[in-house]
Amino acid sequence: MNPTLIEYENLGELNRPFFDEYKRSFAATMNSGWYILGNNVKEFEKAFAAYHGVKHCIGLASGLDALILGLKAFNFKPGDEVIVPSNTYIATILAIIHCGLKPVLVEPDITTYNIDPALLEAAVTPRTVAIMPVHLYGKSCDMEGLMAVKKKYGLKMVEDCAQSHGATYRGKLTGTFGEFGAFSFYPTKNLGALGDAGAIITNDDELALTIRRLRNYGSDVKYYNELVGYNSRLDEVQAGFLSVKLRSLNNINEHKRKLARLYDAGISDRFIKPAIHPDYFDVYHIYNIRHPKRDELRQYLLEHNIKTEIHYPVAPHNQKAMQGILSGTHPLSEEIHKTTLSLPISFYHTEDDIKRVVECLNSFPG
Ligand SMILES: *Cc1c(COP(=O)(O)O)cnc(C)c1O
Repeated sequence: MNPTLIEYENLGELNRPFFDEYKRSFAATMNSGWYILGNNVKEFEKAFAAYHGVKHCIGLASGLDALILGLKAFNFKPGDEVIVPSNTYIATILAIIHCGLKPVLVEPDITTYNIDPALLEAAVTPRTVAIMPVHLYGKSCDMEGLMAVKKKYGLKMVEDCAQSHGATYRGKLTGTFGEFGAFSFYPTKNLGALGDAGAIITNDDELALTIRRLRNYGSDVKYYNELVGYNSRLDEVQAGFLSVKLRSLNNINEHKRKLARLYDAGISDRFIKPAIHPDYFDVYHIYNIRHPKRDELRQYLLEHNIKTEIHYPVAPHNQKAMQGILSGTHPLSEEIHKTTLSLPISFYHTEDDIKRVVECLNSFPG
């Protein structure tokens, strides 16, 4: 018997339920003849701000740009320090570096994989200006702990929400705690486009205007440039697709949560599973387990036609690009990078898919 392949992700299948609406949206955009900063971007910004109950959303070219422009808007001095988790996707740290700021890495809580608020204060120095928490895998950070330190030291906060669309902490959506929430709509994210896209949400009128200018050559009135800006505009075509998919974001998240509950209930306690707690509404951008023989386990699953991923194989401070920039050891982060395995949990995966993954995992002899 050779069971069919269970893929980790299949972006075509993931988007298939939206194809008809996407085609209508694309045809309308094509016919409109207006391809940059038009109605689609406006409509999406309005809808995404409303989803979060905030005043402003500014559509941008990518999640990395959202993090960069969010930091740029504060006009920090070169060499100012930004606190960031040691176990994040490299983009969070790249944003800090590209702004001429210094990333200060803080270890995660090993049970939630998110930055540990108990370690935060020790990382604050007179040069600390901001915290960039990352709601990793679709779980909010412990915002009570982070907000306490932010307030005590008067720090700014840009939340990296690239993996947490729709996730909440005590009923409040990620991205609405700090000055800015920065989002990516990279195709694999819970709210993914068919290309690159990103956004910032904020309640601050002045910061919103600054970001609006920064994304468009420093200008909000054509040919009048107030700031040394960039070209980082959300694309009209992608904005049209995103408005379609946003209407289903809660369904996508509910589907993933249902599959996560099957994993939780089915997977043997030999594997470390994601923590669950009533304060946190998790949206499972990634469902990870940990096991000391992670690589053997991954191979075993592959031999049984089940594909998995590793988020991420190399900790940021061990990346070649970070030599001479990041230093020190971050043992908890390294432990996570060594043992973590991401299981299939996409919008198109079925309960039967998940049951097969569970069965196979539990039969792992290691
Ligand atoms: C995807 C991701 C980003 C970057 O988003 P892009 O749209 O690819 O630029 C940033 N931070 C985290 C945590 C991410 O997962």
